[in-house]
Amino acid sequence: MNRIDFISATLPARKRIALVAHDHCKGRLLEWAERQKTRLERHELLATGTTGLLLGQRLGLPVECMISGPLGGDQQIGARIAERRIDMLVFFWDPFEPQPHDPDVKALLRVAAVWNIPLAANESSADYLLSSPMLDQAHSLSIPDYGNYLAARRPADQ
Ligand code: PGA
Repeated sequence: MNRIDFISATLPARKRIALVAHDHCKGRLLEWAERQKTRLERHELLATGTTGLLLGQRLGLPVECMISGPLGGDQQIGARIAERRIDMLVFFWDPFEPQPHDPDVKALLRVAAVWNIPLAANESSADYLLSSPMLDQAHSLSIPDYGNYLAARRPADQ
């Protein structure tokens, strides 16, 4: 593995926030989202299929729904993070139950770490993220220097 260099990028003031909750955590996420509605409504919301459906009904806000998590929704969200089309992830994953899509869950957490987006993996972290002054400001963060990465991987004779 080549060493990864980092460059500075900007997260917009209006964030694209992805929300995911495993089945036993959906109730907690809905209560949390209702409590945080005045902050969430200033941003663009996306979610895995069932989480998004429930959130849209509960909050009365537009939520872009991916496919349901076990059918590929986690991977869709991961792909958007890699494309830099998601700025923040709130993921209420269930630490007590194995999931049929555990590999996808691991991949989603990994890609969020790779692209250094703000990630809350439980309710109290989600409160910290949403109460940050950075939530409503454009601000910089470090992301992998993909151009440099590609150049370093090019075989020497090409
Ligand atoms: P769901 O997916 O919102 O469609 O239930 C969540 C998940 O299990 O990843």
